Amino acid sequence: MPLNFKLYSTLTNTKEDFVPIEAGKVGLYVCGVTPYDFSHIGHGRGVVVYDTFARFLRETGWQVKYVRNFTDVDDKIIARANERGMEATALAQEFIEAFTEDAQKLNEVTPDVEPRVSTHMQEIIDMIQLLLDNGVAYVGDSGDILLDTTKVDDYGKLSKKPLNDLIEGARVDVSDDKKTPTDSVLWKLAKPEEPKWASPWGEGRPGWHIECSAMSAKHLGKTFDIHGGGMDLIFPHHENEVAQSEGAHKCKSVNYWMHLAFINFDGEKMSKSLGNFKTIRDMLQLVSGEAIRLYMLGTHYRKQLNFTVDALQASETALEKLYRTLKRAVDLPQTDAQDLEHFYGYLADDLNTPKAQAEMFNTATDLNAALDQNNLEKAAVLKAKLVKMGASLGLLTYEPVKYLKGGYKAAPEGAMSDTDVEKLVQERTTAKTEKNWARADEIRDLLKAENILLEDGAEGTSWVRK
Ligand SMILES: [Zn+2]
Repeated sequence: MPLNFKLYSTLTNTKEDFVPIEAGKVGLYVCGVTPYDFSHIGHGRGVVVYDTFARFLRETGWQVKYVRNFTDVDDKIIARANERGMEATALAQEFIEAFTEDAQKLNEVTPDVEPRVSTHMQEIIDMIQLLLDNGVAYVGDSGDILLDTTKVDDYGKLSKKPLNDLIEGARVDVSDDKKTPTDSVLWKLAKPEEPKWASPWGEGRPGWHIECSAMSAKHLGKTFDIHGGGMDLIFPHHENEVAQSEGAHKCKSVNYWMHLAFINFDGEKMSKSLGNFKTIRDMLQLVSGEAIRLYMLGTHYRKQLNFTVDALQASETALEKLYRTLKRAVDLPQTDAQDLEHFYGYLADDLNTPKAQAEMFNTATDLNAALDQNNLEKAAVLKAKLVKMGASLGLLTYEPVKYLKGGYKAAPEGAMSDTDVEKLVQERTTAKTEKNWARADEIRDLLKAENILLEDGAEGTSWVRK
């Protein structure tokens, strides 16, 4: 039996007991990035929080299908690609790869499916056709297809904004095409210099919101368990997703909406226009990916995170302390982790990561005390618990000695890759067994020239970048 848990849902604005659609299974969809630039730390927080959530679910017995999309067809991508004189798809691909690299450095377990708009055009077109057939969409004067928000039941139910208020608020945004200001574009006819796809209404491309309705239905079904994304997406993006999905399929689309709060940077709301745009890469120059994780999970996901460099560095120091504790315990025998009820209990309470982390730090304190008292039996049990809690949060995944020497640092631009270093280290080990000292020394010098230091120990040779 999987562990029961509670989740705060934006739909009801209450913390609810999670009830799965299918026993033992969780379908999770999260809105991903628009790959036109390097991802900022707000995206990083999304990566860390939903990854931690998926890890928690899997560890407590749930079978999870985690889907996160890439919005690879978008105005910003097209504009940037035109600026750089390249194909939009090539630009999107470049930044999808960059995002994936960043997410890996944050120790993410890659989602099960990462659908892209460009490869789901048929599903999107089919859904727009369904909306037209159901009378929830119409052809505008320009030929674009629009969602008719007045024909959707309970439009505004997610953002808790009555349709009339929304109409008032949207007046500034009114276009000739729209019958009602809140209506949104499902299919735009192509303009010159834009990527386009064939459709029954002419060549063009989808509006933003429809992609998530189409891709979530394809990969998780018409009704699925949990939908995540930043709070800034509640309106209009998620409100429209609900309207489109329910307008097309005539059934409830999502049971729980799990929204992530903003990041403030040094006290100011982070945005590009404020000039305080910080990328995940900027942060990775300062500290390890695990330190960023520890920092982000130190604030509950529904609370605003006030990002400061000092606090980030304090997380690095705290993480090093955990690794130093594990280094002291490195020779203790392996044993099963136990006594994790409190830890998982905190995570089962609307993913309370700050409390789960506090439990992890308390265990490290107890482990140090047990080591001080030379109570090795107790220490072994505490060590197993600490390592297990760390893994569950995506932390403490390195050998302590390697981490403390900076072994988490990735190969700098142009440097020898980890794989090539490993190969040479192995070749040197072989050379030594064959008593080919000249070759062994040669390899050592070669690596030294690459700023890679070797250390020969009882368990073989370890290496670290200087
Ligand atoms: Zn979305």
